Amino acid sequence: MTEKYDVVIIGGGPAGLTAGLYASRARLNSLLIEKGLVGGQVANAGRVENYPGFPEGISGLELGQLMHQQATRFGLKTLLAEATGIELQEGQKVIRTTEGDFIAKAVIIASGSERQKLGVPGEEKFTGKGVSYCATCDAAFFREQPVAVVGGGDAAITEALHLAKFASTVTVIHRRDQLRASRILQEKAFSQSKIEFRWDSIVEKIEGGDLVKRIRLCEVKTGEESALEVAGVFVSIGLKPNTDYLKGILPLDANGLIITDEKMEAKRPGIFAAGDIRHNSARQAITAAGDGATAAIYAEKFISK
Ligand SMILES: Cc1cc2nc3c(=O)[nH]c(=O)nc-3n(C[C@H](O)[C@H](O)[C@H](O)COP(=O)(O)OP(=O)(O)OC[C@H]3O[C@@H](n4cnc5c(N)ncnc54)[C@H](O)[C@@H]3O)c2cc1C
Repeated sequence: MTEKYDVVIIGGGPAGLTAGLYASRARLNSLLIEKGLVGGQVANAGRVENYPGFPEGISGLELGQLMHQQATRFGLKTLLAEATGIELQEGQKVIRTTEGDFIAKAVIIASGSERQKLGVPGEEKFTGKGVSYCATCDAAFFREQPVAVVGGGDAAITEALHLAKFASTVTVIHRRDQLRASRILQEKAFSQSKIEFRWDSIVEKIEGGDLVKRIRLCEVKTGEESALEVAGVFVSIGLKPNTDYLKGILPLDANGLIITDEKMEAKRPGIFAAGDIRHNSARQAITAAGDGATAAIYAEKFISK
């Protein structure tokens, strides 16, 4: 028999876990489905210094575990499985997963987005040890140290401008000879004395000991190779929202992110979205948690209607 829930939450990052806390504490019969590590992306953060309530900071892994513990205390059930689709039926939603189907009155989608990776040697090894995908999260760890930003779009240049407040130098590495970022961001970057550019260049390798020490670059037009000494490499070459299983069910923006209203409701009644998967998300643990709380509160109102 297919198990029935009031709310099914897809994704066990800060958004999903907070939605789970609010939903289960509101005495809704709630199931959270997670395909990987409970805690989500924040579990990859060595130290989180900007989540309120932890004045000394906290390891990302521990933060995720505490969130899960807190939600579980109020009755949230967790299933380790991958959601593969949602079917809208009269008055209910069927959630298809690798561990079977589930029925819910409301669904909260919190399956996050993944940063595009460079796919070069050293990237995985040094993630959290100099390689970062989030300047807002990690810039403060690189005070007065040289860093590189890889990318040339709005996100990359915004990261570079933020990093310039902390780092000694910021080298933007871009595979083309001009930026894709908006004109205003370009003007700001060109007038910031700490920001330098390596045009027509790609990162071939990231090297170091315990932490990043340098990157190996290749100039694409000439094939010339060089090394750049940096303590940090911020990769900003795009996002891949985890929305493949939602195609055809929900309208997505041009980047594949879910459009919601201020109640976090997507364009289908009883389907909510929270966190990094949402159009215009600030992509922080605290904003994801806030979205999750909002989504659960309005999911409860939807169910009781
Ligand atoms: C290395 C690193 C460091 C960071 N540091 C900080 C920091 O210091 N401060 C800060 O505020 N933010 C930080 N962030 C950003 C923060 O982690 C994210 O903004 C936050 O985790 C987003 O939460 P979320 O719940 O929306 O999504 P996620 O955390 O991405 O969680 C989504 C979850 O959904 C699961 N999932 C995806 N698809 C499916 C599916 N089909 N079925 C089931 N489950 C699925 C994923 O496995 C994942 O666990 C950092 C991110 C990274 C990568």
